[in-house]
Amino acid sequence: MRVVYSEDHRLHFPQAELSGGQFVTPFERPSRVEYVLNRLKERQLTDIIAPDAVDMEPVRALLDPGYLSFLETAWDEWKKEGMAGEIIAANVPARGMHLDRIPTNIDGKVGYYCHASETAITRGTWAAALSSVASAQTAQRLVAAGADSAFALCRPPGHHATADQYGGYCFINNAAVAAQMFRTSGADRVAILDIDFHHGNGTQSLFYDRSDVMFASLHGAPQEAYPYYLGYADETGRGAGEGTNLNYPMPFGTDYATWSAALDDAIARIRAWGAEALVLSLGVDAYKDDPISFFRLDSDDFTDAGRRIGAMKLPTVICMEGGYAIEAVGINTVNVLEGFKGA
Ligand SMILES: [Zn+2]
Repeated sequence: MRVVYSEDHRLHFPQAELSGGQFVTPFERPSRVEYVLNRLKERQLTDIIAPDAVDMEPVRALLDPGYLSFLETAWDEWKKEGMAGEIIAANVPARGMHLDRIPTNIDGKVGYYCHASETAITRGTWAAALSSVASAQTAQRLVAAGADSAFALCRPPGHHATADQYGGYCFINNAAVAAQMFRTSGADRVAILDIDFHHGNGTQSLFYDRSDVMFASLHGAPQEAYPYYLGYADETGRGAGEGTNLNYPMPFGTDYATWSAALDDAIARIRAWGAEALVLSLGVDAYKDDPISFFRLDSDDFTDAGRRIGAMKLPTVICMEGGYAIEAVGINTVNVLEGFKGA
């Protein structure tokens, strides 16, 4: 399996994340990728290439132009305004306020385009986000050209990013862009399977009204887990998209028996629907020792999950999402890839 990866991910490394009322070193940090790369090499998975230049057309096809322009210019505007630190949202349009009037002040704009203030923007965030989506795009092109699968080692991740909001460490929804590219490269029905511990709220929102992209997510129940305000089982799609959104929220302490039963159900639904291509949002934070999650998967379980997903035999782009038990991220990620290939 070819791996697509850009060193430019390192351009995004905020100094701090707001967590538990303190500023801490962000859980989503560059070393996550280094652990995955090291493990790939240990396992002789060394077919690693850099992405082609980003193609903004499929990005613009999905995302709000004002949001993209905000991401591109936010750092310069922030600094021009005299802000000393990194960009952190301190205000958001809450209940009863205007959701459709965008402030001109950068502090106001930041809150408008942000849904979770743990995520900071730095000088290199835009360039890193572009390199991340470029990796997903290159992986999709490889698969569209005939490869059975490809792994985009995306960083920053993408599945929490909506058409016009960043948060949850995500800025551009890489998996969604890959799915959109499958549509334009000839697949009539594309499924996105999201096995990250956290609900893929961004991906859900991007395709909620559409009948051509199915979204299935296994995640911590929103009552207990970020992103808290989306991800319930009764969110099944809207209008033409009714029936193509599948949420599997699961409680604290969920083990592999329960989790894999949900996975099997999602796989069966995707198959029955007739998906012609698959995008896998691969987070490995369902791992038992993940510091910000609460499922109980062990490293071997990721191999088995990869095998079940690989048995679908669909052309597949795998996009890296979360996983924060730093030293296990490499093992668990590569276990999924090896299980997938061995299926
Ligand atoms: Zn996650």
